[in-house]
Order: sequence, then structure tokens, then C-alpha cells
Amino acid sequence: MRIARIEPFILHIPVTGGSIADSTHRISHWGVVGTKIVTEEGLEGYGFTGTHADLPSDRLITACIRDCYAPLLVGEDAAESNRLWLKLARHPALQWVGRAGITQLALAAVDVALWDLKAKKAGVPLWHLLGGASKPRLEAYNTDIGWLSIPKDQLVEGCRRAVEQDGFHRIKVKVGHADPGIDIGRLEAVRHAVGPHVSLAIDGNGKWDLPTCKRFCARAEPLDIFWFEEPLWYDDVGSHAALARDTSIPVALGEQLYSLDAFRAFIAADAIHYVQPDVTRLGGITEYIQVADLALASRLPVAPHAGEMSQVHVHLAYWHQATRLRGAGERRRWLLPQTPAARRRHDAHERRLRALRQTAGLTSSRGGHGRAAVREWPAGLPGRPAVPRLGSIRWGAARLRGASRQPIEPDPDNAGEGNGRRSVASLVLPRPQPSRPRG
Ligand SMILES: [Mg+2]
Repeated sequence: MRIARIEPFILHIPVTGGSIADSTHRISHWGVVGTKIVTEEGLEGYGFTGTHADLPSDRLITACIRDCYAPLLVGEDAAESNRLWLKLARHPALQWVGRAGITQLALAAVDVALWDLKAKKAGVPLWHLLGGASKPRLEAYNTDIGWLSIPKDQLVEGCRRAVEQDGFHRIKVKVGHADPGIDIGRLEAVRHAVGPHVSLAIDGNGKWDLPTCKRFCARAEPLDIFWFEEPLWYDDVGSHAALARDTSIPVALGEQLYSLDAFRAFIAADAIHYVQPDVTRLGGITEYIQVADLALASRLPVAPHAGEMSQVHVHLAYWHQATRLRGAGERRRWLLPQTPAARRRHDAHERRLRALRQTAGLTSSRGGHGRAAVREWPAGLPGRPAVPRLGSIRWGAARLRGASRQPIEPDPDNAGEGNGRRSVASLVLPRPQPSRPRG
């Protein structure tokens, strides 16, 4: 399985509704920046990271793949993914400038592509290659109904619909207003609407400081918050530990952490209760496994973050024991649609999703990480266009299908040096005018 060439790519996928926002970010597109790795026998592995679809910074990632990693990979055996991970991550010159940021996002894309190749070579889905089982259903939650940009009445209605019509038993709502009292009011309304038996998690996206978080948590505790995700600045171990000591609300974090060492620091400080590794920010599947093993050894549950829109994480969640850990007394509820109508919508959605992925060239019917059905969400919500969705982002199917008919031309600003073994393609979709921007 010798590597013949590396072909980075950039995809910008518009989110429906014009834009989505939390306390820190507002995006109109989701960036899928990654690489295809082709072996001498013609196998193609795909790997990618997730971005905010900012073309200049996306090009830094593809440049790192093309200029830094590709020369180290061509001619190597793709099956030796662990050794190749070390070769890239511990390359002296790259280690000097990297270990986080661009080099790590690029490493994630390469590593996921190598694992995809291994699974395709074996002709099995990734979860099967890892020794997972297909029967258990995965718990998941709906976060697409909880954006900070959604007005309160629509937020409440969306949460109610997710629970009553789509069968979700867990939902997540963004927080982080300048006045935390606004968030308390939104959460009280949601809790009142969905009742006491639905898991209600919240996500601050690192917006608030420690005093604000303490005051907020004191008011939010009666609402039975399942976890408070990223309450503070992402890298601040001490403040997270202080908050964890101060409140009964569990702390969840990890989507912004780049390394095994970062997770180890939070766990060692008792600053984290739910571990949320992301293959697209860690160094891919290889380092995700290390973090999940660390969490398991610490008896902390893992809830993978959806930076890659969950398609890789579904495989990993099916497989790793840390994803199955449950707190004492917690009810076990399965998130797949519970009603027949919701199941029919879910199945139809999965069929569309498979077609979309194959159209986009991000999946294969021959195994690899594209084979597992993503099960975090059911079909399109009633009253809205039923478009395929990945993770919390709804992909514009028609636009993506239209774009896929365009030939992927080499980006003149980002082209390879012409050694014939690697090339760079950039496919950037036009940005639509938001038709219904959310406040
Ligand atoms: Mg989050």
C-alpha cells in the first residue's frame, strides 16, 4: 500500500438559513479542508479537518499538507499509520514550528486519510477495523436547535420539536450573552417546554470569565444542566478546575484542545468531567485513540466533538469503551428516532446523506470511514426544506451537487511545484446571500 501521491482539497459548504452563531463564532459556510491520499494500487483515502471556511487560512492547511507532509509520505506504506504519525508529528523542523494550530489540523487530515486507506484495503468500515460492534445504538444529542443566534421563541419551539417529534432525549443550547440573565431566561423556558426528563446541556464556547461563570452556574443549577461545555477560555486549566470545584454542573471540554498532553493536564487538575476529543483538531484518529484511552483510564466518559461533522466519530464511538461510560444513576436513553414517522424521516435522510457524500467524493462504498451511517440527527425538521445534514450543520445539497459537477481545477495561487506526484485543488463554492439571517 505504497503512497503514490497526496492531493489536498478545500471545500466550503454553505449552511442553510444563511448563518449560524454561538457566543464566539458566526459562520455562513463550513470548511472541509483535507487531502486525498492515493496508493500505487489506486486506493484512495480521504481525510479532512473542519474550518470556518476562511480561504487564506484554509490554504495554510493545504500548503502544510502539500509542502511539509507530502514529501515525507510519498513512497511510504500507508498501513503503517502509527509510525507515519510519529514521523510527521515528531519531524524536528515541523515539531519546532508546530504541535498545535495549522500543522496539527493538517496532520489530522493526513492521519484520517491513512486510516481510511487501511479500512478500505481491508474492505471493512473503520469501526469494524478497530474491533467495534454494529449492533449498539449510539446516544447523541441535538445541538442544531440551540444556536445563540436563534430567538428565544424559536429556540423553545425547536427544542420542543426535537424532543416530541424527532425523538431526541438530549439537547444542547448555546449560552454566552453579555448579560447571562438572558441565557438563564432562555434555559428556563426550554426546561419548562421539554420537561424534567430531557438532558439539557449548555455550551459557552469559551466566552465568559470565571466570576461570570460562577454567578451563572449558581442560577443555572436548579435547571438540572447535564454539562456546561467550554465555560471558559479553552486552555485555562486552573479556572476550569476552580469552576469544577465551585459548581455541581459537570464541565465538558476538548473540542479546542490540540494534543494528548492538553487533555492530560485538564484531567490531572480535575477540571473536566466529560471529555470531548475531536479527530480534526487532535492529530487525527491516532491521537484521538490516545485521548479516549486516557479518559477510560480516568473513568471519564467521552462524547466526541463533531468538528468533522461526526462521520469519523460515529465509527470511533461505536468502538471505544470510553464512549459507553455512564454516570451513576443516569438514565440510558437511545437517541435514534423513537417514533415510526421520525424513523422514516431518519432513514430517508440517511439515503440522501449517502448520495451526497458519494457525490462530493468524500466517501466510498468500499469501506473506510465513510461507510457508517451518521445517526446524530433525524431528517429535516417539519416545515423546513429537508436537506441532508452533517452534524449540526445542514449541508446545502443542491448547491453541493451543482458544485460537484464543476471540474476541480488546480488553484493557481496554491499549485504544487510540478513534480507530478502531488497537486492541490481548491473548490470553493459561491457564498449565497443569507435569505433568513438569524439575529
Ligand atoms: Mg462546543
